[in-house]
Order: sequence, then C-alpha cells, then structure tokens
Amino acid sequence: MNISPTVVVREVGLRDGLQSIPRTRLNTDQKLEWIREAYEAGQREIEVGSFVPARLLPQLADTEALVAYARTLPGLTTSVLVPNLKGADKALASGADLMVMPLSASHAHSLANLRKTPDEVVTEVGRIRAARDVAGAKTLIEGGVGTAFGCSIQGHVDEDEVLRLALALLDAGADRLSLADTVGYADPQQVKRLFEKVLRAVGDRLCCAHFHDTRGLGMANLYATYELGIRRFDACLAGIGGCPHAPGASGNVATEDVVYLFSSMGVKSGQDLALLLALRAKVAGWLDGELLGGSIALAGLPKTLSEARHMAVVA
Ligand code: ZN
Repeated sequence: MNISPTVVVREVGLRDGLQSIPRTRLNTDQKLEWIREAYEAGQREIEVGSFVPARLLPQLADTEALVAYARTLPGLTTSVLVPNLKGADKALASGADLMVMPLSASHAHSLANLRKTPDEVVTEVGRIRAARDVAGAKTLIEGGVGTAFGCSIQGHVDEDEVLRLALALLDAGADRLSLADTVGYADPQQVKRLFEKVLRAVGDRLCCAHFHDTRGLGMANLYATYELGIRRFDACLAGIGGCPHAPGASGNVATEDVVYLFSSMGVKSGQDLALLLALRAKVAGWLDGELLGGSIALAGLPKTLSEARHMAVVA
C-alpha cells in the first residue's frame, strides 16, 4: 500500500502561531501533547519552534526539548526557525531535520524583524551553510523569503528583488526556498505571477508556500500555488499566527481548513480530519481568549465528504 501523501501540509502553529501569542503561554507538556497528537493525525512535517534568544520569545524557549521529542517519532520531519548563525548552531546540535532561515524581501521589514538588510541575511546563510558542512550534518537549510508580496512597513515589494534574493539564497548555500505572504497582502494573480517567475528560475527548489489569511485570501492564494505544482504548504492549527513586527498580520491559513480543501478534492494529505479537529479543539481550549481562525471547525464537515476523507487518509 502506498501511503505517500501527494501534498504536505506542514504544521507551523507551534512556531509561527505561538510566537504571536505572548499572553497565553503553553507549557512544554502541552506542546509535546500537541506534537504527539498531530503526528497521530498523520502530520509528518512539523515546525516545533525557533532558536531565538529566550528573552525575545520566551514562549518558544523550550524548542530544544521539543526537537528532542519530535526526533523520536519515526518518519517525522522536524523543522525549526533560526534567525542567525547562533540559532543555526543550536539547530545543528539538536539534530533537527530542517532549519528555516527567514529573509524579508522588504528592506524595512528586514531591519525591523532581523536587524539586518536582506543581503546581510544572505551572507549569514552562507555562514550557516559553512557551519553545516563543517559539522557534516544532514540538516537541510530552507530560505524562507517573507514579505514577498508586500509589506506593512514599506508597502510595495518589487518582484525582481524577490527573485534576486531567492537566487542569492541558493547561491549562498540554501538547499531550498519558500515564499511567504507574511502580512496577508497577496492576491491570487500576484501569487501566480511571482511563483511562476521564481519557479522558472529555480525549479523545484522552490518547494513551499506560506500564506496568512489576514484579508481572507489565504486559501485562494494557496490554491493558486497548488495549480502551479507546489505541493507543500505551511499552515497553523486553528489559524493562529502572525508576525510581532507586522501589525495586523494575524492568522495563518488554518491547518484543518487546508487539509479539508485537499480532502474535498480527493487529494491525499495523509492527515485525518477527525483527529485534527479533535486536536484543534484541545489547542483552542488552551488558547482560550486568543484570536483563532478557520472555518471548518465552526461549520463542521459536510456529509458528502466521507469518501474523499477516506481517500485523504488511505491511498
Ligand atoms: Zn508566517
């Protein structure tokens, strides 16, 4: 039996989601429960945290323990975000499968978020690649190009600049790329245009799409990239997420809604919607009082889904 999913919905709620929720802090046991139940629901790629200094994001201070646990789950790709070489050294030591190094295509956002220009981030990726090579580690490096479709600080972000930075990241030693609409500015035609442009230049090394649903276009944008052949999508359970440096940038596309999208079309994601919705309810309880997103948890599954849902889980 072939149980390989045809799309990967990568859970980033424990990182992108929780980093934007400073008020309600999940403890390590709750996060371990989240990871275990997400795994049981069929998730096989989970970004468990970020190796940023604990004083900046205390709610992500237990990332090392989460990676250690996630690595015990067979077949799970454990990823972390790293803001710099220091974080990358921790990621390499932790044995994470993948580290995502964010780069903001918006100069202004880059300075606010990472305190570096985009080109300084590219240089840092070169250092990270050198550190990985010296360590002989297998940890993949993904360059996550954020604010690729516009920026709440700077406004317009030039498409050719996004392409230039994408190429520079690969030249510096990143293994692959993702494009992110960090602040929810993108529309589907713009998404199609920029993804096509970058895909033409780098092929399948552009392997992931990251959308926020800030203005209601997250799913439409995601589907536009699916039609172009993208098969990996970041999402946050319960639609949490945002960027502390981009005001109003709340709400990644909700994991359960993305899984529902593919299930409804009979596209296999390997994820069990019923288990996912049960976990979503649990996490929503932990985050009581916080702004949550997503539609399917409110409306429930349609009666017509049963057959497609089966296909989503069993090949
Ligand atoms: Zn994000």
